[in-house]
Amino acid sequence: MDSSEFRRRGKEMVDYIADYLEGIERYPVYPDVEPGYLQPLLPTAAPQEPETYEDIIKDIEKIIMPGVTHWQSPYFFAYFPTACSYPAMLADMLCGAIGCIGFSWAASPACTELETVMMDWLGKMLELPEAFLAGKAGEGGGVIQGSASEATLVALLAARTKVIRQMQAVSPELTQAAIMEKLVAYTSDQAHSSVERAGLIGGVKLKAIPSDDNFSLRGSALQEALEQDKAAGLIPFLVVATLGTTSCCSFDNLLEVGPICNQEGIWLHIDAAYAGSAFICPEFRYLLNGVEFADSFNFNPHKWLLVNFDCSAMWVKRRTDLTGAFKMDPVYLKHSHQESGLITDYRHVKLSHEFESLVRQDPRFEICTEVILGLVCFRLKGSNQLNETLLQRINSAKKIHLVPCCLRDKFVLRFAVCARTVDSAHVQLAWEHIRELASGVLKAEKE
Ligand SMILES: *Cc1c(COP(=O)(O)O)cnc(C)c1O
Repeated sequence: MDSSEFRRRGKEMVDYIADYLEGIERYPVYPDVEPGYLQPLLPTAAPQEPETYEDIIKDIEKIIMPGVTHWQSPYFFAYFPTACSYPAMLADMLCGAIGCIGFSWAASPACTELETVMMDWLGKMLELPEAFLAGKAGEGGGVIQGSASEATLVALLAARTKVIRQMQAVSPELTQAAIMEKLVAYTSDQAHSSVERAGLIGGVKLKAIPSDDNFSLRGSALQEALEQDKAAGLIPFLVVATLGTTSCCSFDNLLEVGPICNQEGIWLHIDAAYAGSAFICPEFRYLLNGVEFADSFNFNPHKWLLVNFDCSAMWVKRRTDLTGAFKMDPVYLKHSHQESGLITDYRHVKLSHEFESLVRQDPRFEICTEVILGLVCFRLKGSNQLNETLLQRINSAKKIHLVPCCLRDKFVLRFAVCARTVDSAHVQLAWEHIRELASGVLKAEKE
C-alpha cells in the first residue's frame, strides 16, 4: 500500500467505521456462533499470493463481524462499559503513524512529557491530593498502565520491594525468600480477580477479608485479620481497597481502612477501575474521600471516560517507590538528560436509576444492592435456578446481553449501562424484554 492508496483506503475505513457505529443496532449484540467457528472459514496457512483489499473487507463482513460481541451496542448491558469515541479513534491513528515507543524521555520527549502533564490534569479533575501530582517539583505523579490488573500488580510488586528493603536495612541477615514467605496482602472478598492473581504472580499470600452487609470492606474486619496474622508471625504489607466493585459496585470504607494502613505502615492501593471516572463529577467526588491515606490509586479512562482501550491511569505519592523497585539501566537507554529527576458521561447514572425504578415497580423482582453509579444488580424473587434460567433465556434470545454475579449465595443479574449511545428507549425496551422472558420462566416453573 503506497501513500496514495492509504489516503483512499483510510477515507473508506473512516466511512466504514462511522457506518458501523451508526448502524450498530442492526447487529445482534451477542454473536450466534459456536466455539471453533472461525478456523474452518480460514485457510490453514497464510496465502502465498496477496488478496485484494476489497476481498479482505468482504471477509470482515462475512466471517469476522458475525463472531463479534458488539460492546458499543446500546443493547450491551454486560460487564462494564468500554469506552469508544471518535476523537480517541483519531488519536489512535496518529499514534500509529508516529509509531514511537516512549520507554525513556530521549526515546520521544513529547511522549513522556505529555503523559506527565495529562496525568496531572486528570488528577486535578479528580481532586486527587497534591501529593499524587508531579507538578513542578512534586514527588508523586501518574503513569499510564495498560489495565487495572497491571496497576494492581505494579503496586503489589513495588510494595513488596519496599518492605523487603526496609526489613533488610534492619536485619541484613534476612534473605528475600525468608521475608517473602511471611508477607501477606489483604483485599475484600468482593475484589476483582486480578487482585488475587497479582498475589499469585508476586509470590505472596493474599487474604480475602469478609465484607459487610453492603459488600464493603470495614476497618474492624481488617484490624482483626491484621492482629491475628501479626500474632502468627506474618508481615502485613499491602491492602488493596476497591471503589466500585465489579460484581455490585460497592465501595470499601476508606475512611476506616486508610488510617489503619497508615498506622501499621502498610501500603494502600485503591482500585477504582470503573467508578473512578465518576469522581470528576462534584456530586460523586465524596466517594473518593479517604484517598489521602493511599499510596497508589488507579482507574480506567478506557472504561468510562471515552478513551479507547487501553488506558489505565495510575498515581503514586512517591514516584521513587516505582522507579526504585523496577529500575534497569542498560547502556542503550542512557541519555544525557537522565539525572535531572524531573522527567518522568454520567447520563449512565440517570439511566441506571431509571432501570432501577422499572424493576422496583414489578413485585416479582428485587433490587439487590444500592444503585450508586451505572450498575443495577437485580433478580427475580426466588431460587437461584430460576434466575439462572432467566439469564440463559435473555442471553440466548440475543436481543440484549447481560452477565451475572454472585452476591454471597445469591445468583444475581447485572444490568450495566454501557454504550455511549444508550438512551431511555433502549433501557425500556430491555426491561420489557426481560419482563416478558421472566413471565415465561415463571409460567414454566408453575407448570
Ligand atoms: C474492570 C475492573 C478491573 C479490571 O480492569 P482491567 O483494566 O481489565 O484489568 C479491576 N478492578 C475492578 C474493580 C474492575 O471493575
